[in-house]
Amino acid sequence: MTKTSQRAVGVDLGTTFSVIAYLDDLGRPQTLANAEGDKLTPSVLLFEDTSVVVGKEAVKAMATEMVHVAECAKRELGLRVYHKVLGGHQYPPEALQAWVLNKLRRDAQQQIGPFEKVVITVPAYFDEVRRKATQDAGYIAGFDVMDIINEPTAAAVAFGFQQGFLSPDSDGGERRRILVYDLGGGTFDVTVMEVGGHEFRALATDGDVQLGGRDWDQRLVDYVCEEFIRQFGLDPREDPNTQGRLWRECEDAKRTLSARQRASIACDYQGHAVRVEVTRELFLDITRDLLDRTAFTTRQTLQAAGLEWKDIDRVLLVGGSTRMPAVSDMLQEMSGMVPDRSISPDEAVASGAALHAGLLLSRFAGQSPAFNIRNVNSHSLGVVATDAKTRRPRNAILIPRNTPLPVTAKRVFKTQKHGQKSILVQIVEGESASPDDCSQLGKCTVRDLPPDLPAQTPIEVRFHYKENGRLTVMVNVQGTDKELRHEITRENSLSQDQLDTWRHYISGLPPAASAP
Ligand code: ADP
Ligand code: MG
Repeated sequence: MTKTSQRAVGVDLGTTFSVIAYLDDLGRPQTLANAEGDKLTPSVLLFEDTSVVVGKEAVKAMATEMVHVAECAKRELGLRVYHKVLGGHQYPPEALQAWVLNKLRRDAQQQIGPFEKVVITVPAYFDEVRRKATQDAGYIAGFDVMDIINEPTAAAVAFGFQQGFLSPDSDGGERRRILVYDLGGGTFDVTVMEVGGHEFRALATDGDVQLGGRDWDQRLVDYVCEEFIRQFGLDPREDPNTQGRLWRECEDAKRTLSARQRASIACDYQGHAVRVEVTRELFLDITRDLLDRTAFTTRQTLQAAGLEWKDIDRVLLVGGSTRMPAVSDMLQEMSGMVPDRSISPDEAVASGAALHAGLLLSRFAGQSPAFNIRNVNSHSLGVVATDAKTRRPRNAILIPRNTPLPVTAKRVFKTQKHGQKSILVQIVEGESASPDDCSQLGKCTVRDLPPDLPAQTPIEVRFHYKENGRLTVMVNVQGTDKELRHEITRENSLSQDQLDTWRHYISGLPPAASAP
C-alpha cells in the first residue's frame, strides 16, 4: 500500500469502551492500541482547567474528581445537552463523543499516518436521531464518515472474515443463520442475520439502548450501599467521589465473578468501612431481571424473523458483558446450542467496521466488492396524521420496522385551502399509534409551493430510508415535475455552523468540503 492511498479504518464508538481498527497491507483487520498501549479506550472524559483528557486517566479520576468526569454520553445522544455541567459548560452529547473519537484518531494517526475516511458503528437499535448525532460526532472529530453500520452486522462481517467466507476463492459457503447477541456496557442489541454467498442480510433486529454492563454494576453498588445503610445509617451514594470509587470496585468485582465463584467489595465512607462478600449465585439473584430482559428480547427478535431456534446455526457472542457466565448459560439453555466465542467480543465490531471501510474504498475505486450488506430498519417510520374519526393525531406508519433497506415509501398529502404556500410534515419513529409515545424525528416544511394551487392538490412526500438508517425526504407537487429534496429540521441537532465551530474547537480542523 502506498503512502497516498487511503487506509480503511473502522471505529467502534462504545458506551463504555471504544476501539479503532484498520486493514493491514494484506487486508486483515488489526486493532490499533491507543497512546497508553491499550486496545480498548474507555469512553470517559475528564475536564481539566484547559484540556480534556480521554480514556484510562479519566476513569481513574472518577474516584477523586467525579464532578469533572463525563461518561456514558452515548446513552444521551439525541438530547440537546449532556446532563452534567462540566467546567461551567453543558456540552452536546455529540461533542463529548467527538472528544473520544478525536483521541482515537490522533493515537491511530501516530501509527498509520494521516487518514480521514472512516466507518463508525452504532447499535442496530439506534434510531435515526442517534445515528445522525453519531455521524455529526465523527465530523466534529475531524473524520469524513463514509458510512455508519450496525454493530451486530459489523460483528457478523468480522466473523465471516475469520471463517474465510469473504476470501475471493470461497463461494461464501452455504447459507447460515446467525443470531448475534451483543451485550456491552451501555446497550443491548440482538440481530438475526443470514450469511452466505458473500452476502450479509439482517432479518430482524431489536434491543435496548438503556441496558448494559453498567446496570449490572449498579446492582452491586446498590447492594453494597444497602448494607452500608443497614450498618451505619449512611448512604455512600450521596458523595459523587465515593460513588465513583465504589463503582470501579464493583465493576472489578463483577469481572472477578466471571472467573471465580466469589468476590469481595470494600467501601469506606465518612470514617466507616464495610467489606461485602458477593457470590456468583447472589450476583445472579440481584441481576436476574436484567438477564431476563435480554432473553425476552432475544425470543422476540427470533419470532420477528419468522424463525425458531432449530433454524439458527450459530449464536454469536459480542460485547464485554457476554463474558458473564450467566449470559452463555442462559443462551445455551434457550437455544440448545453452545454459544460461539470464536471472535474477540471486544474487537469484532471495530474489525467489521474496518472491513466495511475497505469495501467502500474499493467500491469508490471501481472494484467489485467482496461482500454485500443488507440491513433492516429497527423502528417504524411514520408521519403524524389526523385520524378521520376521532380527529386526534396518530402515527401513520410508512415504513414498518424490520423492512429491508434501502426503501422508499410515499404518502400523498392534500393542500387544505386555495393558494396554500406550504405544508408541514412531522416525522416520527416508533411503534405506538400515539405520536406522543414516539420519537420526534423532526419536521419538514414543504415551502414555495407553486402559486394559486387549488385546494386538495395532492403533494407526494417520499421517504428514502438508506442502508445506514439515515432518512431523506423528497417532495413532488402533482402537476409539476419539480422534485425537491427536503431538509429535516431537527429539534436537538446541531446546525452546520455549530458543527464547524465544534469541529474547530475539538479537532482543530477547518470545515470540510463533505459536511454530514
Ligand atoms: P460498549 O461497547 O457498550 O462500550 P463493551 O462491549 O466494550 O461495551 O463491554 C464493556 C462492558 O463489558 C463493561 O460493562 C464491562 O464491565 C463488561 N465486561 C468486560 N469484561 C468483563 C468480564 N470479564 N466479566 C463481566 N463483564 C465484563
Ligand atoms: Mg459495543
